Amino acid sequence: MGSTRLPGKVLLKVNGRSLIEILLDRLSRAKRLDRIILATSVHPDNDLLAQTVEQLGYSVSRGQEDDVLSRYYETAKAYKPEAIVRVTADCPIIDPTIVDRVIELFAREGVDYASNTNPPTFPDGLDTEIFTFSALEQAYREASTSYDREHVTPFLLRNSKFKKTNLLNTEDLSNYRWTVDELPDLKVIDRIVCHFFPDTHFNWQSVLKLRESHPEYFLPNQHISRNEGTRLDKGLKLWKRAKNIIPGGNMLLSKRPEMFLPERWPAYYSKTKGCHVWDLDGKCYIDMSIMGIGTNILGYSHPEVDQSVRHVLGKGNMATFNCPEEVYLAERLIELHPWAEMVRLARSGGEANAIAIRIARAASGRDKVAICGYHGWHDWYLATNLGNLQNLDEHHLPGLDPCGVPRNLKNTVFPFLYNDYETLEKIVMANPEIGAIKMEVQRNQPPADNFLQKVRDLATKRNIILIFDECTSGFRETLGGLHKKYNIAPDMALFGKALGNGYAITTIIGKRSIMEAAQNTFISSTFWTERIGPSAALATLRVMENTRSWEYITKIGKSIGNNWQRLGEQHGLTINISGLPALIAFEIPVTNWLKYKTLITQEMLKCGILAANSVYVCTAHTPALVDEYLQQLDSVFSLIRDCEDGRSIDRLLQTPVCHSNFHRLN
Ligand code: PMP
Repeated sequence: MGSTRLPGKVLLKVNGRSLIEILLDRLSRAKRLDRIILATSVHPDNDLLAQTVEQLGYSVSRGQEDDVLSRYYETAKAYKPEAIVRVTADCPIIDPTIVDRVIELFAREGVDYASNTNPPTFPDGLDTEIFTFSALEQAYREASTSYDREHVTPFLLRNSKFKKTNLLNTEDLSNYRWTVDELPDLKVIDRIVCHFFPDTHFNWQSVLKLRESHPEYFLPNQHISRNEGTRLDKGLKLWKRAKNIIPGGNMLLSKRPEMFLPERWPAYYSKTKGCHVWDLDGKCYIDMSIMGIGTNILGYSHPEVDQSVRHVLGKGNMATFNCPEEVYLAERLIELHPWAEMVRLARSGGEANAIAIRIARAASGRDKVAICGYHGWHDWYLATNLGNLQNLDEHHLPGLDPCGVPRNLKNTVFPFLYNDYETLEKIVMANPEIGAIKMEVQRNQPPADNFLQKVRDLATKRNIILIFDECTSGFRETLGGLHKKYNIAPDMALFGKALGNGYAITTIIGKRSIMEAAQNTFISSTFWTERIGPSAALATLRVMENTRSWEYITKIGKSIGNNWQRLGEQHGLTINISGLPALIAFEIPVTNWLKYKTLITQEMLKCGILAANSVYVCTAHTPALVDEYLQQLDSVFSLIRDCEDGRSIDRLLQTPVCHSNFHRLN
């Protein structure tokens, strides 16, 4: 019942009968079985299953949820059988004649174990195993890994002291799929069962014939490979389920497993602490990658920040009244940015950007905007690509399709590249309707040739509102905006990401004369008033100030960059470094780069480290953890060196290549 990919699957119905009922009914025709017992777990989720099966007249035994081997052993012990046949409950069209054939083979050859799955030649869904009670007892006593305990027979299969045999079909049909792990499987079984109704005891050869006469019945699950379930971790199973009901699988492109390591990345977490993350199988990893995409400068689950949230939980997160913390936070942000006089709060970076643009348009009375960098998903920003699909490709995220963005927003937003002052000046001269310039203070390279000052002067001269989007750069090098380091004050600035150390809070700060325009244009939203966001932000700012976190993360980031260079030199690889030290990234400028990046993630994951080609540094990244990371990376660089010298990267890669931009998922 606890199936990750298809919860409650064995009680799902086809043609009015549950899968388990169909299975038990068919299995009961096997001549060589003395007794059929459902061995399920004690988890309350299985209560209904146990009850259903008992009502059908079968025995039920209950044992451990994950240690299925012990469940089998304890069940068998109570009945003292000579041998135990294992059939899994997700194979509703099991064929009793095949079950009998495996039992007969087992008896005839006098072995400890027999099956029709080693190797498999029958369609998936007819799997039958049989083993002696004493072999089961030995496995129960000796098998130690969680994999062996969960999957019951791997210990027997691996161990040469057990005599084994296998029932082979004349033709290899093992890629046919008549079992139920996912929704498309259910569709196939439904069609088969409905086709033969009212005959419920059709044999497997009839199903083969049906496959010839109605191949379309069998199409839905063709893409699912055999025993995928034993290979996939829980997280990836959940990801498959997610993609079926959540378009794109999740809400943030950068957290798609395909962006890291397709078909392998653990995808979901169960808990976090510092820079450690646990997946759904309980495996722990060191996060040397994007740390929640830059949200957690103080590390995950920071005690003081979490304490402030716990305090809110104790007192109430919502009310008809407003929360006082929003005022305290607004005051604190102004204190940190003396050029700013007023503040609005929001909960995501994209919406903070949209709010800033609305205010700037309202304040300036001009609609057009010049942009540099990434500013979220909203219509106003994606409109940049209406003029040309590649307009945004150099601004952090390539491949953004403005599909669904009203076409009449075309020519409202004009992109310019970082450090390209001349282009910006030309754009501004050619478009007097430009009322705002929005840009990231710095993303990949530092400002050159007085770039920021020139932009500031241009904006001042042309009466254009200058907005710094510090959603990502904020708090990485100063307590507040990166613009403080360069001593250039904008007219508005945005903060997000790290401000709440993992809790949702973003802000728009600005000069009074501009921010007052928010009185004339309607900008209002229910959850911008909840209390956790500003409370977490106040605690985060306090801890940042006390620990001077921006100095620590910059120091660690610099040392990571230097070490990448050192490793590159040792292995004769060119390494291009980019980004703020606390958001450090590298690239090897070769044609196989994306494959190498995938290889890095693949090999590092095997050592329990989440890594790609950038590290978003947090204060929990201790020098010792960084050393461990660099040591492992050293071995991967050496593999890359081998590949540059002719070794096949394709042979080393065990997964498809990672994605690098936005596109449809299958
Ligand atoms: N602006 C910048 C500079 C960003 O880096 C991001 C997020 N990567 C955003 C805006 C959008 O923020 P969010 O994902 O919270 O909407």
